[in-house]
Amino acid sequence: MSFVDEGIASVLDRFQGDGNINALFVATFTYGRGIAGRQVPGQPLPDHGKQEYDTNFHGGNYARTHEQYYTHTALKEIQAPDHPGFDVLAEVLPQAQSRRIKIFCWYEDVFRRDLEGIDRLQEVTLSGKKASTICFHNPEVQAFWRALTEDYLRSYPIDGVMWGSERQGPFGNAIGAMHGGAGSNPFEVACFCDFCKQEAKSRGIDAERAMEGYRKLANLVRDAREKSRPSDGYFVSLWRLLIQYPEILAWEKLWNDGQKSTYANIYQVTKSIRREAMVGWHIWHNNSFSPFYRATQDYAEFRKYSDFLKVVMYNNCGGPRLASYVNSVSQTIFGDFTAEEVLGLTCKTLNYQETNLAGLPSKGLSANYVERETRRAIAGVQNTVKIWPGIDIDIPTGRDEKKTEPRDVRDAVRAALDTGADGVILSRKYSEMRLANLRAVGEAVRA
Ligand SMILES: [Zn+2]
Repeated sequence: MSFVDEGIASVLDRFQGDGNINALFVATFTYGRGIAGRQVPGQPLPDHGKQEYDTNFHGGNYARTHEQYYTHTALKEIQAPDHPGFDVLAEVLPQAQSRRIKIFCWYEDVFRRDLEGIDRLQEVTLSGKKASTICFHNPEVQAFWRALTEDYLRSYPIDGVMWGSERQGPFGNAIGAMHGGAGSNPFEVACFCDFCKQEAKSRGIDAERAMEGYRKLANLVRDAREKSRPSDGYFVSLWRLLIQYPEILAWEKLWNDGQKSTYANIYQVTKSIRREAMVGWHIWHNNSFSPFYRATQDYAEFRKYSDFLKVVMYNNCGGPRLASYVNSVSQTIFGDFTAEEVLGLTCKTLNYQETNLAGLPSKGLSANYVERETRRAIAGVQNTVKIWPGIDIDIPTGRDEKKTEPRDVRDAVRAALDTGADGVILSRKYSEMRLANLRAVGEAVRA
């Protein structure tokens, strides 16, 4: 969006001059506002770009869609209508290359319900409804990600790709184990489509038992949120359910394996087309909050299909988000504890030293959190995969919650680099960043 609004040359001038930036992760495909479009409506506009909101944002593929690659998927009408005739890769690549700025396609697992053909790809929830998300065990979904990746690699001289999937399996969603998790509906977790049931069958998992287990789990979560305490307490009741229905976690693993197979799929397609193109992944921020989600993000395993990892370490918005996670799970699986106790338990489990629950939303997480997470990631990949921590600059937060200041940016960037990170990825999008914070990156890098 910023390239259209502000001009490619002037944006690149600023990236190089103010930010000391040497690579761009261009949002080429998404239906979400997190990485594309202008500032989220309702949040203050930054001090550059058009001073109005793009309330007609749609999303899709911001490069040209070459239809010959999409023959094995019903989802093919993906051209973003936002900027007719503007092919972001065709326009930006030549200018970036002449400045020796590397270009990565940055695309993510976010869709909308009104797309032609998407219904064939969608997940099915526990109650039997179509979800807005798409199912990794559906062959057309894998074909779609292969098609998009092949399209980018064959159509443009890009340096690499980064894909992100900010999602977790049905267990994590059922217990509300993520930021914003208090709003999760345990009766609508996914996926229970025919492809998943087929996959379960091949693994010897009884789908009916799994769904029965998830329905009991949903009832337990609903009761916990209504403060209807079981006589044995929340934790024991939940653990008992996991013992009685091992299919619950077996289904969680089945979902996770689908996401991992997508990583392997994109990696294989990319390397088969251009060996030297780099492939890496955006690791969702929930990795910083939920120990249950963190357990599924095994850095050692990522070595099989990764050249780099953008591990999200957004410390500013991380404060309100960690508080949000804690407030959610202290109403479900950890209902036997106060929220403050859950925060203490969480920080010990994740190895953080941060502030109390009252201070967390307004103070954010510290640069020390970035340092600890960088160290953990480097140790996890054992020096075989590049670690590029994601640093947040002006990611929107609520009123009275932590806002990014230049000093925060300097401290976080220095913490990552001094701990041995191979670089940092400024997040999420230039169109929401304030210039003083961007300049702070250049200062930190040159320091
Ligand atoms: Zn499915």
